[in-house]
Amino acid sequence: MSNYQLKVENIIEEIKKIDAHTVGLQFPEGLKIYATLVARQIEDETGAEVIISGDPSFGACDVSDASMKDVVDLLVHFGHTPLHLEYEVPVLFVEAQFQLDVIPAIKEALNLLENYKIIGLVTTTQHLHILDEAAYFLEKEAKTIIMKEGQGTRKAQVLGCNFSAVEELPVDVFLYVGSGNFHPLGIKLSTNKTVIIADPYRNEARNIDQFADRILKIRFARITKAREAKKFGIIVSSKKGQLRMELAKNLKSMIHKEGKEAYIIFMDHVSPELLIPFMDLDAFLVTACPRIAIDDAQMYKKPLLTPEELLIVLDKKKWEDYKIDEIKYVNGNQ
Ligand code: SF4
Repeated sequence: MSNYQLKVENIIEEIKKIDAHTVGLQFPEGLKIYATLVARQIEDETGAEVIISGDPSFGACDVSDASMKDVVDLLVHFGHTPLHLEYEVPVLFVEAQFQLDVIPAIKEALNLLENYKIIGLVTTTQHLHILDEAAYFLEKEAKTIIMKEGQGTRKAQVLGCNFSAVEELPVDVFLYVGSGNFHPLGIKLSTNKTVIIADPYRNEARNIDQFADRILKIRFARITKAREAKKFGIIVSSKKGQLRMELAKNLKSMIHKEGKEAYIIFMDHVSPELLIPFMDLDAFLVTACPRIAIDDAQMYKKPLLTPEELLIVLDKKKWEDYKIDEIKYVNGNQ
């Protein structure tokens, strides 16, 4: 059906097992193109009615169980592993492993790993199944591989908001297998160690340093601008896995103590258009997904800061101690 293992047979088995009559399907953007194919196969083979969620879905923080609870008996959520959250309907998580040979990209990385012996291997959900093969290959190259589970994540798995699987790992370097720069940036900023990327989509390897320097310069500029701010908007997400109301209230009272104004804005999806009516505010704090302030910074006219960055703005933390913002769920608690 695709390069992704969508495990439709397992889904069909589960539908029959619990005798679900109406089944919801929720895909991240990159997998939505398979939605109708999966729906047709399920309807043909089970007789259940399928309802496809058309809303955007960015992570397991964003499962549409609450909005679909009255219309489905089972929700199938693709592309992410579960967080320790309570869901309002039975949810079946399908990781959607990507079928790709990662060894050519790791071979490319060997030059950059030449001076390092102990390697922390790390990846995202789509590639968790290749870890053993990758570790075996590197061990044959006389490297020592270390991996561990994180708080609420699997062995060697990082999320864009959870880097606990790499924290305090006694390694010389990290090898990140996957695409994109955000996860390796997070690994670098939460460990201060060298991070090499083995990108299996491009079969190339690179060091994250240059990208990290560029992002830190942008963050420094945003923090400097936010020091002039007198009125802050504190964005709280209604998405269950991003909802940090207590944190927002604490930040609000911290800002008030500095003699400045702060207002909590509760919203589902955060976008530049939705913030346009709030242009009397000088800066925004994002307690929702930590990627928004960093990845989407250029799209916003006013500075968007993470809660960690506010501490630097208010001189409660030094710039040298800069850390990436994280949301770690363990047994339903942050
Ligand atoms: S909060 Fe952001 S980084 Fe974390 S799981 Fe959700 S979408 Fe991913």
